[in-house]
Amino acid sequence: LPSEFTAALPILEKIEQAGYEAYFVGGSVRDTLLGKPIHDVDIATSAFPEEIKAIFDRTIDTGIQHGTVMILDHGQGYETTTFRTESTYTDFRRPDEVTFVRSLAEDLQRRDFTINAFALKADGEIIDLFDGLTDLKNKTLRAVGSPEERFHEDALRMMRALRFSSQLSFEIEPATLQAIQENVALLKNIAIERINVEFTKMMLGSAVWYAALEMIRVGMHNYLPGLQDTDIDIVGLADLLKGEQISNETVAWMFLVFELGLTATDTNGFLRLWKHSNDLIKQVRKGIHLLNELRLGEVSDWDLYEVGDAIEPTLETLALSELMVDDTALRTRYANLTIKNKQELAINGGILASELGLKPGPVFGKLLQQLEMQVVGGQLKNERAVLIEAAQKLIVTKK
Ligand code: ATP
Ligand code: MG
Repeated sequence: LPSEFTAALPILEKIEQAGYEAYFVGGSVRDTLLGKPIHDVDIATSAFPEEIKAIFDRTIDTGIQHGTVMILDHGQGYETTTFRTESTYTDFRRPDEVTFVRSLAEDLQRRDFTINAFALKADGEIIDLFDGLTDLKNKTLRAVGSPEERFHEDALRMMRALRFSSQLSFEIEPATLQAIQENVALLKNIAIERINVEFTKMMLGSAVWYAALEMIRVGMHNYLPGLQDTDIDIVGLADLLKGEQISNETVAWMFLVFELGLTATDTNGFLRLWKHSNDLIKQVRKGIHLLNELRLGEVSDWDLYEVGDAIEPTLETLALSELMVDDTALRTRYANLTIKNKQELAINGGILASELGLKPGPVFGKLLQQLEMQVVGGQLKNERAVLIEAAQKLIVTKK
């Protein structure tokens, strides 16, 4: 067992000693069986939240209405959720109410895919009620029970199917895939933020090329923000992504935006539809500006300078894209820029004011920007005396 589990074993044992059942469940069990590293360990138990709180001294109510209590143990927090069923879904998203139950089987039955429905007992026994082990072996993603019903209960599961197939390189089993195709319109009921989480994870998976092809084939893009009726060349896109894994969220979205052919301005609107943070939007816009210039031809040192701290994701996006531009050469050019930002300029507003007796104002900013551009372009050395002299000349020519 991975160390994350052994560290949490005393918790399972303590719950068992108090007369309840407790198991490791969810992604960590799946990933362990696949030999992959795990992040968080989830525990499911027959004990009700109040009963868990009576057993452990230190707990936090992280989601008590869903049955989740965090147990604090030697500086670690363990999310422990009471076995539950989710009843009467009337809006295709999340249950109207959860009911706590004492039966593990009922809890596993509400889970999305067979490979996510294992339970692991403290003694090492794997409980596999839906033949998930066979699906793991065959690299198959299969809904627990009737896929049709499961997607009606929670439409997000369709998006999760593509996400897991991308992350794990699993094929979606035909009946599950068909149910996605038939019910994909239910995604309209799901909050963008939740869709975004799954979509981003899908883009960061190692089989994103496969998931992207399936996504278009079942028509899911028609229910995703800004992707309706896109005439994106998905086969070409899948070819670019085959054998590649995108390294982070910024690169993923920059690549998508670039391949959609959006301008820097449209980028803003598109990413807002997806409810992205201002920070991500800013990074992607900077990169898209440079990439669009590169699509047209050469870029200047000033263009590179303006990309600033977005340079790394931008060059990674370039390397993924169809553009035949040497990203290593651009990386070297960026590294060799005389300055990387305004703060590195050997002159500033204060110096200008005291040396030239100028009053701060709009002319001031323009003057500084001209100096900045000439330093970045290599026409001026980044030295205080040189820049003061150049500023004097610029003022004289203005007059
Ligand atoms: P990850 O490694 O990305 O965390 P995970 O499988 O742990 O993957 P989570 O979203 O953390 O995924 O969910 C934990 C578990 O809860 C899942 O393995 C699954 O059993 C169950 N689950 C989560 N979301 C749903 C859902 N929408 N419908 C049914 N079961 C779900
Ligand atoms: Mg998880």
